[in-house]
Amino acid sequence: MVESESAHFDKKGKTKTPRQGTVAPDRLFCYKENTAHPATGILFHQCPSGSAAMFQYTLINKDPSCQARRGRLETPRGVIETPTFMPVGTHAAMKAMTPAQVEETGSRIILANTYHLHLKPGEELVRKAGGLHSFMAWQGPILTDSGGFQVFSLPKKKITEDGVFFRHEVTGEEIFIGPKEAMAIQNALGADIIMAFDECIPFPATADYAARSIRKTLRWAEACLQSHQRRDQALFAIVQGGIYPDLRRNCAEELTAMDFPGYAIGGVSVGEGLELLKQVVEYTAPFLPENKPRYLMGVGLPEDILESVARGIDMFDCVIPTRYARSATLFTRVGRIRLTKRNYRRDFYPVDHSCDCYCCRNFTRAYLHHLYNANEILSAILAAIHNVHFYQTLMKESREAIEQGRFRSFKEEFLAGYNRAES
Ligand SMILES: [Zn+2]
Repeated sequence: MVESESAHFDKKGKTKTPRQGTVAPDRLFCYKENTAHPATGILFHQCPSGSAAMFQYTLINKDPSCQARRGRLETPRGVIETPTFMPVGTHAAMKAMTPAQVEETGSRIILANTYHLHLKPGEELVRKAGGLHSFMAWQGPILTDSGGFQVFSLPKKKITEDGVFFRHEVTGEEIFIGPKEAMAIQNALGADIIMAFDECIPFPATADYAARSIRKTLRWAEACLQSHQRRDQALFAIVQGGIYPDLRRNCAEELTAMDFPGYAIGGVSVGEGLELLKQVVEYTAPFLPENKPRYLMGVGLPEDILESVARGIDMFDCVIPTRYARSATLFTRVGRIRLTKRNYRRDFYPVDHSCDCYCCRNFTRAYLHHLYNANEILSAILAAIHNVHFYQTLMKESREAIEQGRFRSFKEEFLAGYNRAES
């Protein structure tokens, strides 16, 4: 029996009913290698990397007006239509949202952070709880990062050829994470998509530093492939190389030769700005395989996402929609608004006229303004529901535009409206 079935069968082999209120049972399915997918009839094959027999990416169409791609990623826990946005539940919890509320926004896959979960509560406890899906009651696909981004961002760490030493932020205990450790932690957490351990190159970095760093990232990618234990988890590789086109190309080509089931572009959203971000995506994406999903890590604002979709990216994650929700910044078709401003005190319109989320259907800007003023936690809940829904609507409309071959004009029209009144 493949491990993906552990979510649906208990230790004695009895069928368990999926929990109510998260993902509808008709979207839950499991299948074995070399069997046909129940809905599409696609046959699954053994991936040469040995880790992704149950994952299938299908490129549905390419937009003739740009590099945008419409695709479908099938996983043991559900189908993900791409381009897609993954909201971030850092500690296996979406901030101020229940799993049912997250699902209602149209989110199909979420992200959790390996670094934070390793420190608290520890992967062994999550494993004992039946893995992340069971622990946090989210039955759809989950992606965990490798912890590399957080570890490399720490002010005090020691980078060696084998990994990184750092201190536990509370206990002060010395901790080491390298490729083997990152795989063991992510295997225990049990997400559907896991990430290779890489060195996130800071910005700015010299070409010399970046060149030495990608050698390490490539070596670590190979070590991750070797120590990854679960075939029901797809291991994605991460392309680094800073802002240097030849290094990005070199890293992408070497990783492609290792045949991972998916590829991420890492080391972006580290302060390089939108113009450099666009350039990095532009000169990296062409060297990634067409028949595998492409994930741009940690991006971003709506304009960053649209520009990157136009350059061939399929998957995104970012804390922005939920983080901004807590600081009273809400996304609308005509730009961002800050609801703590006095002019919203008597504004009895919804946050966004064109939005059909729970928040916009039921509440006014004046009410949210009052909630923020009174420091009520409902403000963060309603704003998070709206912001994540806004992102998912943007992705849904992007997918439709690509299907119809008009993504470039969709992007331009959206940005013309969105940039009109940004505050
Ligand atoms: Zn709304």
